[in-house]
Amino acid sequence: MDDTILSAQGLNLYYGPTHALKDVSIDIPEKKVTSLIGPSGCGKSTIGKSIVRLLKPTGGSIQFNGKNIATLSQRKMRPLRPHIQMVFQDPAESLNQRQSIGQIVAEPFVIHRMGTPAARREWVRGLLDRVGMPDSAIDRFPFEFSGGQRQRIGIARALTLNPSLIILDEPVSALDVSVQSQVLNLLLELQEERKLSYLFIAHDLAVVKHISDRVAVMYLGK
Ligand code: ADP
Repeated sequence: MDDTILSAQGLNLYYGPTHALKDVSIDIPEKKVTSLIGPSGCGKSTIGKSIVRLLKPTGGSIQFNGKNIATLSQRKMRPLRPHIQMVFQDPAESLNQRQSIGQIVAEPFVIHRMGTPAARREWVRGLLDRVGMPDSAIDRFPFEFSGGQRQRIGIARALTLNPSLIILDEPVSALDVSVQSQVLNLLLELQEERKLSYLFIAHDLAVVKHISDRVAVMYLGK
């Protein structure tokens, strides 16, 4: 049996009258790639956002590190946030366009009060280098980069606080086909290197079938 890093049981979530999650349960094994697939609108992103607690489920439990994080207040969730990170589909939307790349990637260090400005800059340089970005990127802005490069920046930001679990919400779907496999390969290298657990959300089995240790299928909120 695999060790489970996170176990969600009986999740329910309503957006007003829309019942987006209907008693959804999913176990995410440790240090493996789990894919969550299903058609657009079936509730995949809603699960991802519930797990990182951008959303609060209406019912159900999410066990992580021996705690039920589904019901934790934002304040009690705070110390756990570094461990569970999310990479979004569209880096153009998820990166703050007014911040330099250095500021974007260093922001989690600032929020969690880690390191001096000089130390943070060194850590950011290391992260940018690891995701294949040039050193000169640090003082430039998101609009100066391509979609693939922006997603690399989003990945660097997700890695800052050494997470154990990363929710990847269609991380290559918005990218040109020619760069999709490069970004996918980077994600897989990082997974192996850092023993990360991934929940890889996709609407298309073709993207994930070669990379998944396990596939979960979702349909109409279930
Ligand atoms: P998927 O990621 O599988 O495409 P989502 O989790 O984004 O699906 O959406 C699930 C359902 O919830 C859809 O019917 C969608 O229209 C609805 N939904 C998603 N986000 C919101 C929101 N912020 N407000 C209202 N309804 C939403």
